[in-house]
Amino acid sequence: MNVPFLDLKAQYHTIHDEVNQAIQAVLDKTAYAGGPFVKSFEENYANYCGCDHAIGVSSGTSAIWLALLALDIGPGDEVITVPNTFIATVEAISFTGARPVLIDVNPETYNMDPNLLEAAITPKTKAVIPVHLYGQMADMDPILEIAKKHGLKVVEDAAQAQGAKYKGKRAGSFGDVGCFSFYPGKNLGAYGEAGAIVTDDAGIAEKVKILRDHGQPQKYYHNYIGWNSRMDGIQGAVLDVKLNYIDQWNQKRRSHAEAYMQLLSGMDNIILPFVPEYAEPIFHIYAVRVKNRDTILEKLKEKEIHCGIHYPVPVHLTRAYGFLNHSKGAYPVAEQAAEEELSLPMYPELTAEQIVYTAEQLKAILS
Ligand SMILES: *Cc1c(COP(=O)(O)O)cnc(C)c1O
Repeated sequence: MNVPFLDLKAQYHTIHDEVNQAIQAVLDKTAYAGGPFVKSFEENYANYCGCDHAIGVSSGTSAIWLALLALDIGPGDEVITVPNTFIATVEAISFTGARPVLIDVNPETYNMDPNLLEAAITPKTKAVIPVHLYGQMADMDPILEIAKKHGLKVVEDAAQAQGAKYKGKRAGSFGDVGCFSFYPGKNLGAYGEAGAIVTDDAGIAEKVKILRDHGQPQKYYHNYIGWNSRMDGIQGAVLDVKLNYIDQWNQKRRSHAEAYMQLLSGMDNIILPFVPEYAEPIFHIYAVRVKNRDTILEKLKEKEIHCGIHYPVPVHLTRAYGFLNHSKGAYPVAEQAAEEELSLPMYPELTAEQIVYTAEQLKAILS
């Protein structure tokens, strides 16, 4: 039995007619860059997240970068985040001219350890970016409390957490700004590149809106040096269709996670995801931990089960961030996760048979 890591075709088949019509409508209106389809999605997505404003942009990376720029973060500033994230979180900090400062994560949730936050704050610190890794939110209450005490802005990297909740409230609605990616493989995926920021702050919303469009509030009248980071019309239209299904798709992921948990529990050589009381995750990734991860991944591939690794090299050990001068051992929890993490196949259309087959093969390899 073949078990792909992700199957975008299977999902497209379930919404084929609706999506094709939505794309045709964009073509009929030639509303390619920004425009009414993006605006409609922005309204619906703000509403979905429980925020006053959503601004569609060209990617999740742009979303984080523009959010930081809108908060006036730049050269001489420091921004705190974690090393076990997709590099975009840290790149966005670097591209404002600020310096990324990393702190380690909690060994059970793999999310920012709030106990390490205060010690990393200096007079230069301007913001903190918790990453809701694998679709499970970071422990926001202590992070928000420390940020408030020190006058720091909070930018959520919710790229993997569309619809995830913390104490009943949705990702993106906790910080000054929430940032989302709609990269095709994300839980809410566009048919191309796209992202968004959400916020309750009208000033930040306005500034991101202007920055994504060359700093122009009015065509050819430029107030800031901005960039071209607009969302395109086709992505807005596709996302608007898919937003109607996101809760049902996330629910399917949760039940797949439940099935994996039941099938794999009771083994002492695999660590399954831990879900704290406060979290309602959406399992963008079903991350387990095993020793000899690379061998196990290869053996699963021989059985046609395709897994992923998120991520094999923590940011501080990448060549790109060598200039931060962190050696091995600087962030032991993130480093151990990078060595042992294995992402099992996970997407809404995964079948019960595929889950059972994956779990059985994995158990056989482990024992
Ligand atoms: C995907 C992702 C991003 C970047 O989003 P893009 O749309 O690919 O630019 C940022 N942070 C995290 C945690 C991500 O998973």
